[in-house]
Amino acid sequence: MAQRTADGWTPDSWKTKPVSQQIKYGDPQALQQVVEKLCQLPPLVSSSEVDALKARIAEAQSGQRFIVQGGDCAESFSDCNADAISQKVRSLLSLSLLVSQKTQQPITRIGRIAGQYAKPRSALTETQGDTTLTSYRGDLVNHVHFTESARNPDPARMLEGYSYASLTLNYIRSLLEGELDELFNLEQEVSSLKDLSRHKQLHQSLRNFRDALNLFHQFNGKQTAHKNLTEFYTSHEALHLHYEQALTRQANNGRWYNLSTHFPWVGMRTVQNDSAHLEYLRGIANPIAIKVGPTVEPKDLVELCQWINPENEPGRLTLIQRFGHQHIAQKLPAMIQAIQAADINVLWSCDPMHGNTQVGANEYKTRDFQHIQSELQQAFDIHQQHNSHLGAVHLEMTGEAVMECVGSSYAVEHQELGKAYTSLVDPRLNLSQAFELIDNLKLSLAE
Ligand code: PEP
Ligand code: MN
Repeated sequence: MAQRTADGWTPDSWKTKPVSQQIKYGDPQALQQVVEKLCQLPPLVSSSEVDALKARIAEAQSGQRFIVQGGDCAESFSDCNADAISQKVRSLLSLSLLVSQKTQQPITRIGRIAGQYAKPRSALTETQGDTTLTSYRGDLVNHVHFTESARNPDPARMLEGYSYASLTLNYIRSLLEGELDELFNLEQEVSSLKDLSRHKQLHQSLRNFRDALNLFHQFNGKQTAHKNLTEFYTSHEALHLHYEQALTRQANNGRWYNLSTHFPWVGMRTVQNDSAHLEYLRGIANPIAIKVGPTVEPKDLVELCQWINPENEPGRLTLIQRFGHQHIAQKLPAMIQAIQAADINVLWSCDPMHGNTQVGANEYKTRDFQHIQSELQQAFDIHQQHNSHLGAVHLEMTGEAVMECVGSSYAVEHQELGKAYTSLVDPRLNLSQAFELIDNLKLSLAE
């Protein structure tokens, strides 16, 4: 049994609190055995890497850096192969270069990768015809196929998830040691996209991209350019607390770290007052993020920040705002003001995806590019108008040539949604759309 910290926290003290989105396993003994096995396995990341990211987030908080966080809504075990991993890493790297050019700031990249395997769901069951089954809850929990056995939660999937996360991370680390020309080979990315005539905007993005890369080399020299351009961290939603707890380890400095990822976040569906998920996150030393939706009251947000980061430690807390394009102008100013009035250190990040989800043709979940663009632009503007600043963006995106979000110059129509839709849960921007989103931003940069 782990020793309690002074304020009564242990890696499993979350069990004394209400657990929303709880996964119901049929065999508690099998669950216990898996957790015990996971506890014996080596951590996936190190506490010094986690501390390094916290320092980067602190820089972003003070306006010296920008953070780009992105990746799949739900990673799948079957995506653990060289091509898929390399495409994910290269697309996030490429996008971050454009962001750097746009914001004129150094960038740190955080993938939704190597562990983004557990999903909260608005509906815990799914009905097709006469059959109702448990919803797909991410590969860490069950299988996406619509059969009873596939949807049955199986604790052994946590061991599989750990292995896939570890293989993914191992490959990412080796990729990042590679040559910059390989990692930033955007022409290769583009040529793999189907139907090039759709990519009017992308050609302009490509030119901007090449300019940015050349400038970077010119001003930084090869080695520094490599170091700066390949700094990469992992993140996932800390949803499945049995898994997170088993990978929580005490470092030599006496502090507890979640060493399954650098940057765990708590999602909107598990952020209620006194929730098990918040209890878990308050005790770990990692930088953590909290999703903030339109139903949150500013005074509750202030209390939450003070409770979860009582020392007001810089870099520790990121607020990922996700209001939706119609609500942001009404909701965000009061939140910024409340955080400023209480002198709370946070990094503000904008997730322009999750407040803008709608159901498109044939029941496909989609998001309209214009709504995403509008929310992100408003986020930058509102922070600036209130003497605050947006220091990060959080995107669901992929290097695959998917058609999951409608609109943009890529011109995806609602009725095309079935054509190239591979997301297991939420719709992602393809690389062309992600580039366009950043290209279109109008930022007034600090002098
Ligand atoms: C997500 O990031 O995939 C997610 C479910 O987000 P939110 O909690 O903001 O809805
Ligand atoms: Mn999502």
